[in-house]
Amino acid sequence: MDHLPIFLNVKGTRSLVVGGGFLAARKADLLLRAGCKLTVLAPTLGEELTHLAQTQGFEHKMGELSAEDLAGCKVVFGCSRDKAINRKLCELAEAAGILVNITDDPGSCDFIMPAIVDRSPLLVAIASSGTSPLLTRMLRARFETDIPAAYGRLAEFAGSYRDRIKKSIPNGTRRRRFWETMIAGPVAEHIFSGQIEQAQSLMENLLDEAARDGDMQPIGEVYLVGTGPGDPDLLTFRALRLMQQADVVLYDRLIGEGILNLVRRDAQRIYVGKLPKNHTVPQEEIGKMLIRLAQEGKRVLRLKGGDPFVFGRGGEEIETLSENGIAFQVIPGVTAATGCAAYAGIPLTHRDHAQACIFVTGHEKDGELNLNWSSLIQPRQTVVVYMGLSSLEAITNGFITHGADPETPAAIIENGTREGQRVVGGTLASLPGKTAEAGIESPALIIVGSVVTLRDKLSWFADEQQEYAI
Ligand code: SAH
Repeated sequence: MDHLPIFLNVKGTRSLVVGGGFLAARKADLLLRAGCKLTVLAPTLGEELTHLAQTQGFEHKMGELSAEDLAGCKVVFGCSRDKAINRKLCELAEAAGILVNITDDPGSCDFIMPAIVDRSPLLVAIASSGTSPLLTRMLRARFETDIPAAYGRLAEFAGSYRDRIKKSIPNGTRRRRFWETMIAGPVAEHIFSGQIEQAQSLMENLLDEAARDGDMQPIGEVYLVGTGPGDPDLLTFRALRLMQQADVVLYDRLIGEGILNLVRRDAQRIYVGKLPKNHTVPQEEIGKMLIRLAQEGKRVLRLKGGDPFVFGRGGEEIETLSENGIAFQVIPGVTAATGCAAYAGIPLTHRDHAQACIFVTGHEKDGELNLNWSSLIQPRQTVVVYMGLSSLEAITNGFITHGADPETPAAIIENGTREGQRVVGGTLASLPGKTAEAGIESPALIIVGSVVTLRDKLSWFADEQQEYAI
């Protein structure tokens, strides 16, 4: 190792930054965040430092650098554009035995500044010993996305229990297992979702059990996770994390292979798919299954295409859970309307075309479309129809017979966001014929409104080429 990695406690101590530019501002900001009493020595302060002075406050000195300026400091930073000033700072620091860092001059530095991911009190520091700042930045970006923002809260929560747990579980191995259960399980997930009271009560349960028999009974929970319309890249970080923790997964037809492959390898998989008009597993059964599995102590992942609360019957499933006292979480996903629209290059709203957008289901109940046509046929509004493929003709006819212009632009998107996405564009009058001709299959989403014409300019996703004409 070229350096000793340490985290220095500088709270309440003096520190000095020499220089007034943006590099000095960055150091000053870090020092203030670490609780230093900061002095900045510079003839003038740049924009960033001026802002920092107004919002946080520090001592600003002008004039010549002297040994007095370093008195009581643990660390000093040279960020001046004038090399002679930085050199003088180095000499003074060395004479006083104070650690010095000079920006962009590793040879004169006692220490280097790592790239950091700040989830205080949790801190990740990354350094390449000055060999490749780009590599450290790339790694930092990776950690930034991999470490949930709420990890700081988790660390704080764990810290507040540390002494108590040390006393109540004296055995080191058992204590480690306790922490593993806590950090990888429902307690942590509740902290991530801001449900601190629930996390505390789960923590108390864990502690009670640990005190009783030394063995921890796992606590089951259900994660109702929206996976988006199909492209695995559209998953949220939380969805991915819960997918990798689950003991058992219940999924249906809309969940593609790409997404299922991201579920923990050894999780049990249960297909509860429904085909249109052929309900293989009734909703009630799914509800019962979720309850039974959670009561067995399992972490149950219920995957839903798109968003669980948009035509997903997610509400019904968790109603039963809540009635049975089962803990659950709902993780939103990109819904088909926004996902398909984005990947088809059709903005759902646009200042020149539509100021409103409405989502409806085209699913027929007893052979009837139950739609409020007058609310759908409004100027400057986009209508998105879910589950409308099999009733496409009834839908477009409905629009036309209730007064919509047959030439209103309309499109249908098959397999939106996925490989093999196809978009067929036309008008209310022509769309059913074109859709049949193209052999469009489920899942497919219909968009009606003049925004559809924007696709000519805004299409970007390499979908399977279709003849496209309005
Ligand atoms: N909860 C889901 C919707 C479930 S209803 C969501 O928020 O997206 C199922 C309907 O969604 C399908 O009939 C279809 O209209 C639409 N849909 C879902 N995924 C789709 C996709 N990848 N491409 C096109 N339509 C899709």
